[in-house]
Amino acid sequence: MWSSRLFWKLVLVYGGFNFVLAATFPLALSKWEESQVIDQVRGGLRDIALLVRGQVAPAIAAGDSSQLVRLVNDASQLTDVRVTIIAADGDVLAESDTDVESMRNHRDREELAEARKSGGGDAIRRSSTLGVPFLYYAIPLKIDEGIVAFVRVAEDVKTIEDQARDRQRSLWWFAVAVALLAAPLTYVLAGRITRPLSELTANAQAIADGDYRQPITSRSRDEVGTLASAFSKMRDELARRVAELEDHNQRLSTVLSSMVEGVLAVDCDRRVMLANQTCCEMLEIGEADVAGRALLEVTRSVEIDEAVSAAMASDAPAQREVTLTSPSQRVLQLLAAQLPAEPRPGAVIVFHDVTELRRLENMRRDFAANVSHELKTPLTSIKAYAETLRLGAVNDRENNLAFVDRISEQSEHLDLLITDLLQLARVESGQEAFQFARVDLAVAAEQALTQCRQLAEQKRIRLHCDPANETVVAWADYEGLFTIITNLLVNAINYTPPEGDVTFRWRQVEQTAVIEIQDSGIGIAPEHHERVFERFFRVDKARSRAAGGTGLGLAIVKHLAQAFGGSVELESEPGRGSTFRVRLPTDERDPAKHLTSAAVPRDNDAENKDPHR
Ligand code: ADP
Repeated sequence: MWSSRLFWKLVLVYGGFNFVLAATFPLALSKWEESQVIDQVRGGLRDIALLVRGQVAPAIAAGDSSQLVRLVNDASQLTDVRVTIIAADGDVLAESDTDVESMRNHRDREELAEARKSGGGDAIRRSSTLGVPFLYYAIPLKIDEGIVAFVRVAEDVKTIEDQARDRQRSLWWFAVAVALLAAPLTYVLAGRITRPLSELTANAQAIADGDYRQPITSRSRDEVGTLASAFSKMRDELARRVAELEDHNQRLSTVLSSMVEGVLAVDCDRRVMLANQTCCEMLEIGEADVAGRALLEVTRSVEIDEAVSAAMASDAPAQREVTLTSPSQRVLQLLAAQLPAEPRPGAVIVFHDVTELRRLENMRRDFAANVSHELKTPLTSIKAYAETLRLGAVNDRENNLAFVDRISEQSEHLDLLITDLLQLARVESGQEAFQFARVDLAVAAEQALTQCRQLAEQKRIRLHCDPANETVVAWADYEGLFTIITNLLVNAINYTPPEGDVTFRWRQVEQTAVIEIQDSGIGIAPEHHERVFERFFRVDKARSRAAGGTGLGLAIVKHLAQAFGGSVELESEPGRGSTFRVRLPTDERDPAKHLTSAAVPRDNDAENKDPHR
């Protein structure tokens, strides 16, 4: 209440009004009060004059001046007023307050003239005899219907003024008392008026701040009470509608946030009204700072902007596929449609992220092209040699066997290619039925080294084995692990010049079996480190072919290692050799993963786009 401006306004207005009223009351009454006093004094003077007239009449009739003087003095003493007896011609016969001799003729005195006319006259003026102001009252004294003298009584004006001032002082005290009494009343009254209004104001403030629980109660039976009850109903209705809206919004945002499609709504000025989380993720923008920004600024795509323009210009939705390049490359399919309502409030855009779909399509297309090319090369050779033989070379005793050998070589290469392709396809699709077991690396190494020894000898490569001091086992499928080791060993032998070294070692590091195949060969430039694991990628195509490579060896290694819950990495420098490191778990960590999903790892094999490389 103390902070209520209205309260203080009322206090000031009522207080000021009371004060003015209290001040006006004695001011207005003071003149009237003064005239009242004068009237009273005049009335008193008349009574005294009548009394004195009765007493002095015999002395005047008898012409007894000493008796007259004595009576005048007695009357004056008794009534405490000035008494003067004046003859009809104006000569002063007797006077109570001064010497008669010193007094001039009073014929022209105002009160006498009036008394002569109307039987009683009064005047207020300064006494020429005493020099002070007096209120005079005079009445005629008649004998036989003729005026013989006048009895005049006078009261000192100062005495009258004193009386009037006394009365006014009382009035002022009364006004002060009234004002003092009115002050607390004003305070209480202002409080009673403002309290319910202050409560209503606080309620309204709470509602404005979103708090609809505060009860609105008012005991007033007046308009304020009616206002409070109307306000209460309004609050309840508002709370109900806000709750409904919040519920609706909640459901809408739950639906929007759980959608796999991105949803973005813009107003007719193409400013973003809302964007769900998926949309923000697709456009790689922060969800918080989207609302209110221009569509073009948010999407950074002229195509999206154009799609919205097209949708807004017609009733039919606009469909597009856009490729965003920044910050990362994404392919989005979008459908833009106008929001229903009149006038059109804007448009909504629904995005589908088809990046992965397009990537897989590209991958499939590239893979098909690569496979066709890889199959076509040996087939073309076989066809050419067979044709050469058919056209007569079969009778060429010196060369016909060489042609048959070429056909056999190319057929073997074809067979190898198809075998590798099938194995890769099985590993990738998860159809390969692995038999997981604890495989002793020493056993697998022994078998692989035995198999590769002949090739190493042919190529004059020194094959070393650096086994671990303790037994190291890997949780893997034996055949798969054998393929990993032989693929890496064959590569190491093939890509190392004669008199080079290939070392096969294995260790256990914590819960991981680490296999390393190190060679002193040609090495691989850093820019190819990632790509050598792609299907059909070869650093040097001719060299790979000469060595009988299919371009699938490392892809099979990578997919097998991943299918076993492990990984493969490469350290290499051109001219200094390469080290392929395979990490495999030593125990069964997640059997489910080993049997199914790990067999279908994602990679960027399809990036090998040039089938003619
Ligand atoms: P390929 O059948 O051609 O050997 P891979 O998938 O096994 O196919 O290997 C892919 C390419 O990686 C090879 O063509 C070769 O260029 C390179 N490469 C693989 N292993 C080595 C290695 N030990 N030293 C140098 N280059 C290698």
